Amino acid sequence: MLRTFTPKTRSSTVLQFARAYSSAKEFDTVVIGGGPGGYVAAIKAAQLGQKVACIEKRETLGGTCLNVGCIPSKAMLNNSHLYHEAKHGFAKRGIDIGEVKLNLAQLLADKDKAVTGLTRGIEMLFKKNKVEWFKGLGTLKSANDIEVTLNAGGKESIKAKNIIIATGSEPSPFPGFEIDEKQIITSTGALALEKVPEKMIVIGGGVIGLELGSVWSRLGSEVTVVEFLPAIGAGMDAELAKAFQRSLSKQGIKFKTSTKVVDSEKKDGKVLVNVEGVKSGKKEALEADVVLLSVGRRPFTEGLGLENVGIKPDNRGRVEMADNQFRTSVPNIRVIGDATVGPMLAHKAEEEGIAAVEHITNGHGHVNYNVIPSVIYTHPEVAWVGKNEQQLKEEGVKYKVGSFPFAANSRAKTIDDAEGLVKIITDAETDRILGAHIIGPNAGEMIAEACLAMEYGGSAEDVARTCHAHPTMSEAFKEACMAAYSKPIHF
Ligand SMILES: Cc1cc2nc3c(=O)[nH]c(=O)nc-3n(C[C@H](O)[C@H](O)[C@H](O)COP(=O)(O)OP(=O)(O)OC[C@H]3O[C@@H](n4cnc5c(N)ncnc54)[C@H](O)[C@@H]3O)c2cc1C
Repeated sequence: MLRTFTPKTRSSTVLQFARAYSSAKEFDTVVIGGGPGGYVAAIKAAQLGQKVACIEKRETLGGTCLNVGCIPSKAMLNNSHLYHEAKHGFAKRGIDIGEVKLNLAQLLADKDKAVTGLTRGIEMLFKKNKVEWFKGLGTLKSANDIEVTLNAGGKESIKAKNIIIATGSEPSPFPGFEIDEKQIITSTGALALEKVPEKMIVIGGGVIGLELGSVWSRLGSEVTVVEFLPAIGAGMDAELAKAFQRSLSKQGIKFKTSTKVVDSEKKDGKVLVNVEGVKSGKKEALEADVVLLSVGRRPFTEGLGLENVGIKPDNRGRVEMADNQFRTSVPNIRVIGDATVGPMLAHKAEEEGIAAVEHITNGHGHVNYNVIPSVIYTHPEVAWVGKNEQQLKEEGVKYKVGSFPFAANSRAKTIDDAEGLVKIITDAETDRILGAHIIGPNAGEMIAEACLAMEYGGSAEDVARTCHAHPTMSEAFKEACMAAYSKPIHF
């Protein structure tokens, strides 16, 4: 029933609001969301002398990343790789260990241990830095007032001079698929399957789908990745995307690219996924025990009360920034991380958290969006930063390419893990590094060298003339830089 807003009810509502907030705790900065964007912002603000609170509705801190994202997925990638190596790779290295058996419950428990250790670590950092954690859902009531619906029951009102929205994201749904997290699952379900499915279909050949598809493939599932685009790898350099797909195919993962997913039906304990060729229109029904939906993520702002302060999300649900200081259309409310525009990555959220807090404290803060690395933690790993060849061609920039294969790198050969290459792209005139693309062992660590060089405006020759330890994989990076401005020695 619509409630008539008479002068009497209006004045009593205003009175209630005034009473609630007159007794409210006051803070310099309140961060809504305790993920890598939010918790880092809260700690940094406290370190800069502010009185800080963080509102997080989960029972643990760390957001998507620590609870159901980066951390559990990497724990499972590591242990599934070790299992696969023990089963298929040890014998050729001269290590006979007899029958290798999977203890999935223990593998999941080990993942949970990593998650618990790290989420508790953030709690300790909050205590150390005197960040007050309000455990509950934060709802904006005005530009300075937030109501917390406490997990323990009841509500608490808090006041903030500055507010940072860091509410993150959630998996995007897919029409025609009803998620039950058992048979039709998101990444969250894929981190907790109690049994290895005989057949798994992964919808979406982006980072999350390929990582989790790899995990279950190594553990024994027959995995098929269905991707609408002609290539996998969500925007990576085309040469690397091809090499990557070849490598994953060799490991047993099947790919159906240029294929559109239409809908699904459950039948006799299986899921039938109806697909058709994007160009050919050829229809096919694929059968699986489990279907993993990994078609992207969307910002999460449910219950946040954006409408109470007049902030309108864009057509993709993102809270937009009104300036480069992370301000929304309400000047003292800022937004960072997955909840706003840009790549949905934990390190991007962290950078923004620090910069937003620096803007609040002293008016300066900076994120270099040209140097945000991406990593896929499969085996081999894939990592890249900056521009790829397709982008530079589109922009009409003249560039040079220097490549070096791990097959010619002594460390990679020594440890018999020599698949992949390093590819450096430089400005044809100045030799400045414009992009680095690596597929190979440890690519995710090695990309930091490219980031550092690019952050300082370094050239390929700068890197090539820097002494690298021998024998290390990083020598492949050095040699790719040599190849970009002159010639490599070992290839
Ligand atoms: C399977 C998987 C693997 C991933 N792997 C990587 C990786 O290897 N590297 C990488 O960089 N990124 C990875 N990501 C992405 C990464 O997790 C996100 O980019 C990152 O967590 C975003 O940080 P955030 O702080 O913006 O939001 P989130 O981490 O989503 O945190 C937001 C928090 O806000 C809380 N919240 C929301 N609304 C409210 C409210 N109104 N009141 C109180 N609390 C609220 C939520 O409960 C949540 O805990 C992965 C994601 C997934 C799903």
